[in-house]
Amino acid sequence: MTITRRNFLSASAALAMAPVLGRPAWGAPLPREADIVVIGAGAAGVAAARRITAASRKVIVVEAASQVGGRCITDSSTFDVPFDRGARWIHNPETNPMIRLGRAAGLEIMPAPSGQKIRIGRRNARPSETEDFLAALVKANRAIDDAARRFDVSCGSVMPKELGDWAGTADFVLGASFAGKDLKDISVVDKVRAQDRNSAIACRQGLGTLIAKLSEQVPVSLSTPASRIEWSARDAGVQTPAGRIAARAVIVTVSSNALASGGIKFAPDIPKRTLDAAARLGLGSYDHIALQMPGNPLGLARDDILIEQSTSTRTALLYANMGSSSLCSIDIGGSFGRDLSAQGEAAMIAFAIEWLTKLFGSDLAKAVTKSSATRWNASPYVQGAMSVAPPGAQPLRKVLNEPVGPIYFAGEATHETLWGTVDGAWESGERAAEAALRRIGALREEPVKQAPSVKRRQQGGPPRAGLPGMSAS
Ligand SMILES: Cc1cc2nc3c(=O)[nH]c(=O)nc-3n(C[C@H](O)[C@H](O)[C@H](O)COP(=O)(O)OP(=O)(O)OC[C@H]3O[C@@H](n4cnc5c(N)ncnc54)[C@H](O)[C@@H]3O)c2cc1C
Repeated sequence: MTITRRNFLSASAALAMAPVLGRPAWGAPLPREADIVVIGAGAAGVAAARRITAASRKVIVVEAASQVGGRCITDSSTFDVPFDRGARWIHNPETNPMIRLGRAAGLEIMPAPSGQKIRIGRRNARPSETEDFLAALVKANRAIDDAARRFDVSCGSVMPKELGDWAGTADFVLGASFAGKDLKDISVVDKVRAQDRNSAIACRQGLGTLIAKLSEQVPVSLSTPASRIEWSARDAGVQTPAGRIAARAVIVTVSSNALASGGIKFAPDIPKRTLDAAARLGLGSYDHIALQMPGNPLGLARDDILIEQSTSTRTALLYANMGSSSLCSIDIGGSFGRDLSAQGEAAMIAFAIEWLTKLFGSDLAKAVTKSSATRWNASPYVQGAMSVAPPGAQPLRKVLNEPVGPIYFAGEATHETLWGTVDGAWESGERAAEAALRRIGALREEPVKQAPSVKRRQQGGPPRAGLPGMSAS
């Protein structure tokens, strides 16, 4: 049974696909001064730097890693097709700026995968069973919506009893697969405030390739971790191993976990509430396990997406035969994904083969010719997948967004409705750049005209829990 009209894919923001284009490092010596320094060359940092460049102000991006992209990294060399190690899907094509930017950059935007299947043991779910599951998702979302109107508790604590055999699957689809945490660890208010994430669309060359291409117009100094920000009411200085950069404003785009872990020192200290907000808005766990399996041993169609009926958190999502290739991605997340990734790449690959063998019957170990697994929690400059709030912490996104003197914060965790997404990170970077430009007098004081995409998002009515494309009918 293929789920089309009402689909579970749209319930998951964290579904994941390409390499780094080999972007040359900033060849020139690190400048000693800039109008604005941007820390981090992920989606938020690249967006901020492009906005500052467009305003004809001097910007430098310092990036700790040896490549741009942050959580958008495409591996184009290991497999036959580009493999996105971080973000893969572009949601909400009518408002998502990444679609327009991708096309303008000459990259190919693919249609959303249409095949979504549910496995029950070794067979596909019957149509009536699929309907039951979709009904369970509606009930679960409704319970989350209802609860969020009254108080903020965990999504897990309000799950209706009548989800029956589908309780575990609903938890995976709405929790681990959506945000990298189990429902018991997710605030109903944060979930309800999350904007719909429908129509998962990918970029054929990879979303990481897209961010790398977009960064070509801005100066990025790679392998340059910011270690300390010295600031006053007037200006700031950013310390790096390559020297100090004096600036009139700084935009910090590092992940909430990287900020909370204290990798960047502030002198004087920034308010404790900012660091506490970052710590509370910690990152969930989400990883891709890539298996190249020539000959289509699973017998699935191109770009098929598959989940299983599961009674435990020990489950995964399969994205099969990516772009007609023999590459399959098995995605894990939440508490199970966190524990498994801590055991290392070999354990992750072993789980993926065992899980597929359980669902498809034949021993698949021999079918795998190449494999690779991401481990975002162990990535020193990111330390996780995406930020999701526990009960009570949703308002802290606003706190994390508050500037401290000449220091502005951006990144997916600072976005109140698009947290956990690339477009949320992008928009937050543009917003921070505009605020910093206003501060240094490069933009007029009144609020800048919003981009049409931002306006449309806000006119769309109150955000609701993430099951776009899924009507009750
Ligand atoms: C496996 C996975 C799948 C995902 N799937 C999707 C998806 O399908 N669709 C979607 O929209 N989103 C998805 N996401 C979420 C998305 O990737 C993120 O929301 C987004 O990329 C975050 O961008 P950012 O700029 O806020 O942060 P980051 O990408 O983390 O960028 C921050 C940058 O700061 C750098 N940095 C850290 N410390 C320092 C320092 N001291 N000095 C200098 N630089 C530093 C880091 O190296 C990094 O490059 C996924 C994430 C993961 C991990």
